[in-house]
Amino acid sequence: MIKKYFDKKNRFGEMFNTVNGFYFRTGVLDANGKDTGVDPFMRDFPALIDIGVMGHCVHGASGLCAKSGVQCYQNGLKTCEPNMSLDNFKKIVDECKDKCFQFALGGRGDVDQHENFEEILRYCAENHIVPNFTTSGLGMTKEIAQTCKTYCGAVAVSMYSRLDNIVPDIARRKLTDGSKRIYRSVDDIPVLFTFNNENKECYWDAPNYIINGETYEWDELHHIVFSDEEQEYEYFRIFNEKNSIAKNDIPNYTINAVNMLIDAGVTTNIHYVIGNNTIDEAIARLKYNGFPTGINAVIFLLHKPVGLGKEDNVLDINDARVKEFFNLIDTGKFPFQIGFDSCTVPGIINCTKNIAGESIDSCEGGRFSMYITSDMKALPCSFDNQDMKWAVDISNGLIEDAWNSDSFNDFRSHFLNSCPNCPNRTSCYGGCPIRRQTVLCNRQTKELN
Ligand code: SF4
Ligand code: SF4
Repeated sequence: MIKKYFDKKNRFGEMFNTVNGFYFRTGVLDANGKDTGVDPFMRDFPALIDIGVMGHCVHGASGLCAKSGVQCYQNGLKTCEPNMSLDNFKKIVDECKDKCFQFALGGRGDVDQHENFEEILRYCAENHIVPNFTTSGLGMTKEIAQTCKTYCGAVAVSMYSRLDNIVPDIARRKLTDGSKRIYRSVDDIPVLFTFNNENKECYWDAPNYIINGETYEWDELHHIVFSDEEQEYEYFRIFNEKNSIAKNDIPNYTINAVNMLIDAGVTTNIHYVIGNNTIDEAIARLKYNGFPTGINAVIFLLHKPVGLGKEDNVLDINDARVKEFFNLIDTGKFPFQIGFDSCTVPGIINCTKNIAGESIDSCEGGRFSMYITSDMKALPCSFDNQDMKWAVDISNGLIEDAWNSDSFNDFRSHFLNSCPNCPNRTSCYGGCPIRRQTVLCNRQTKELN
């Protein structure tokens, strides 16, 4: 089905294919209906709503998430609220059915564990709204995968970094001349690294190591000599073209969920958070084909220090690894598509050359999308779920009123007033209003308001 929408207030039109997800938006139209080529700033009602149907997370409460190294932005470890009721969910759908194209279902925990999971999906489909969601995969079954196939546009499985578990498989540490450091391998084998400042080389002394029953030689460690600006760092990777350590090191619950979804015929994506603690692994997996086979896309999500998300994992645009990561995306070829959350757009603008401008949209929070919590608070973006700085209670009100509220207008004012002198202003609008420190930009024109 092709859905069409014309926004009279902001003078632009849209088309959305509910089967394959193709979305098209015109520029602002002039008085004669001609496209001016100017992107509309906002819509008169959200095109996509992120709905936190989950109020609590069984995996968070059981400690499973924490064990997998997840820094849950919803603080699902400690927060326990009731899930959204089916009645409230239906009330949202009823207001949105002629205006909204898609829902991203989420909240604190896996949507596939909601007590009304199937009814939620079915009610969306009956009203021609495409539901999508992300899961940890921990509770995925063949039956759930089949339900997803019947109703969902796409399902994403979160892939958690294994970095902490495989040190020193990838290790980047500041070493000074002659310094020695001992890391432990996955099998707890001590490995001694020694750094020589003169030739920028690092030596290691260790026996072979075994991962998932396969033996690898330490000689397979790749050694990179850095250019001057980075010379104080040493960088090791044991990922190489010949083996697939990265692929083998995906947790079973992730790979099983991915395979169940793919087998059921669901468009299946991977969600991977990039932060200070995970970017090495992202680079290695991109370089050496370390993502699961058969997926539609890998969507990289920028780490934000919200909930359990730590400040020291925020990426820095000046970090050489950030440049390497974007360069790989910009120039590499992959057996899957690559996508990003709009939080990463400043980085894409600043670090890539070959990505079509038409495929980039800056933060859509409060402009084309919004979030609704399990207890019916409307927010411009889900990452305001802890501070609730821009929350509007809609338990007895309309989504439309929240959308037109002073609170949402205040959120938008950050986009309208930031970086007035930047040539890319209208592609970026100064990035995230919620966590300014995450904006991947070091231009002189950066002026976040
Ligand atoms: S408000 Fe911030 S966290 Fe939310 S989508 Fe925009 S950039 Fe991302
Ligand atoms: S200067 Fe501002 S608008 Fe321009 S790219 Fe940087 S953050 Fe975005």
